[in-house]
Amino acid sequence: MFREVLFVDRLNRFVVLCEEGGRRFPAHLPNPGRLWEILLPGRVLLLEDRGKGDMPRVWGALLGEEVVCLHTTSAASVARKLLEEGCLEDLAGFRVVGTEIPLGNSRLDFLLKRGREKIFLEVKSCTLFFDGLAMFPDAVTVRGRKHVELLADLGGAVLFVVHVPSPFAFLPDFHTDPEFASTLYVARERVLIRAVAVRWDMRGHFQYSHILNLPWEVYEREARDQGSYLLSGYLPETRRIAVGRLGELDFPQGFYVYVGSAMRGLSGRIRRHLRKRKRNHWHIDALLPFLGDIRVFPVRSSERLECAIARELEKAARPVPHFGASDCSCESHLFFLPQPPLKSASFVEVLLRFRMGRIARMLQERK
Ligand SMILES: [Zn+2]
Repeated sequence: MFREVLFVDRLNRFVVLCEEGGRRFPAHLPNPGRLWEILLPGRVLLLEDRGKGDMPRVWGALLGEEVVCLHTTSAASVARKLLEEGCLEDLAGFRVVGTEIPLGNSRLDFLLKRGREKIFLEVKSCTLFFDGLAMFPDAVTVRGRKHVELLADLGGAVLFVVHVPSPFAFLPDFHTDPEFASTLYVARERVLIRAVAVRWDMRGHFQYSHILNLPWEVYEREARDQGSYLLSGYLPETRRIAVGRLGELDFPQGFYVYVGSAMRGLSGRIRRHLRKRKRNHWHIDALLPFLGDIRVFPVRSSERLECAIARELEKAARPVPHFGASDCSCESHLFFLPQPPLKSASFVEVLLRFRMGRIARMLQERK
């Protein structure tokens, strides 16, 4: 059994701050992923104690009723067991003859053999899911892309281990890492791609659940260089700023989220926002020079979603009246939050609803 504690903050890539009975302490997090949707304040983490003097280690988290294993390395042992138990139909009869196979600067998880046939198998751990859709990666992965390229050259399989049983479909996360996504899409002709869901329990044991659908036709339609984006930044001190026809506005110190869209050339629009020197064109151009810690969250989609996103954000944050909304009937396309957006469960929920929930709903309606 694990110790149930509350997540407070992520101190760095591998250490989180936890709370148990009013006491706060650090714990080791064996997962370098971003995990935004899991590491939210108040989330229950499952800890395992280690030897004296060692920091306790995060084993997983509770998402409602579901137990999620957060150990990145557990995916490989899950894959091995599923293979040995014959749960992976396409790989029936293969056995593991090598692990951690070095190839150039990369390593692939397994070398499998069936008779004279040999193939490589790479396993990825997937903890990003929402409303029935699972996606990978949750951060740009150059290493992951190289693995897929190697498998396409050498022949092999990639298995995404989804650590909860609720998702029914899997896609590469083309919002976050379009290069990984397109590499996987192209490789699908030569590489066996499978996503498998498992069900973990509170003792740290898992069971095979099912193989997920890979709806590539949704990828083909949605994963283009078009859609909307949420841009967030931090204003370190309260300022009065002239914003075009809106005149001078007072901006309190804090975090701002702006919603825009570019149905032709989304990445070009994002690069423009991040450029220091440019002529002011949009309302946001007046505010951007004063913001630090700028982050952009693309939501690639075939439809223009910016106003729908803005209306949902109204529930999560305070609108700055009329900002960025001259051409539509929204109250605003700019929102104020006192804390960082990624620490706000409602901001993260809006992001996931438009990135993933929308796709899951389309797939469900089609079923
Ligand atoms: Zn609007």
